[in-house]
Amino acid sequence: MIKNKNLVFLGPPGAGKGTLSEILLRDEKLVHISTGDILRAEITRGTELGKSAKALMDQGKLVPDQIVADMVAARLAQDDCAGGFILDGFPRTVKQAELLEEATAKIGRKIDKVVLFDAPYDLLIQRLTARLTCRQCKANFNKIFSKPAREGICDHCGGELYQRSDDSLETAKNRLKVYEEQTSPLIRFYTENHLLAKIDASLPKEQNYGMLLAVLNT
Ligand code: AMP
Repeated sequence: MIKNKNLVFLGPPGAGKGTLSEILLRDEKLVHISTGDILRAEITRGTELGKSAKALMDQGKLVPDQIVADMVAARLAQDDCAGGFILDGFPRTVKQAELLEEATAKIGRKIDKVVLFDAPYDLLIQRLTARLTCRQCKANFNKIFSKPAREGICDHCGGELYQRSDDSLETAKNRLKVYEEQTSPLIRFYTENHLLAKIDASLPKEQNYGMLLAVLNT
């Protein structure tokens, strides 16, 4: 059982936040809140929010702060989050971090730890452009580092694997630029709040997971 349970996973796209969330969820009963997954579900359902978000996501740009913050606040207020949660891909701007503080204060909870996933640029590009995602259970695989047992099929649920439209080389580069400009200021924000712990996310996932568990228990 880990000590810290109300978690933010921070880091560039391709750093392995989703992959390590998947592994952690096998060992711990936490609610996984991925704003990217929630937005993709809106796109699949063809909602108005989904339509406006898709145009931004396909360019690697961020969806407006208030929209994502409201989505997260609504999810965090649900009873099942009382036992702990992983915020994966949120917050992505200082404004979102401030809105998150307001939302958690309102429900009498607080963030215990922010884990920064650190990996070099070239590796992030390589991971993103080779990534395969399950349409059904959202698990991640990789054409180079983590191939599924059967091509195009998810090992966990048998769902179809696909390449996300924003994992093209051009959009991946834009997303990393947006991360540098808009999300990396959160490193300072959470260092000043004494919540930040950094892990080297460039190793194979089992080793990264060992480091993650170590920081979640300190
Ligand atoms: P992800 O699945 O976390 O890589 O997110 C995919 C895309 O969804 C991002 O490139 C953004 O366009 C959008 N998105 C996800 N989370 C956020 C967020 N916290 N703020 C704004 N946009 C987001």
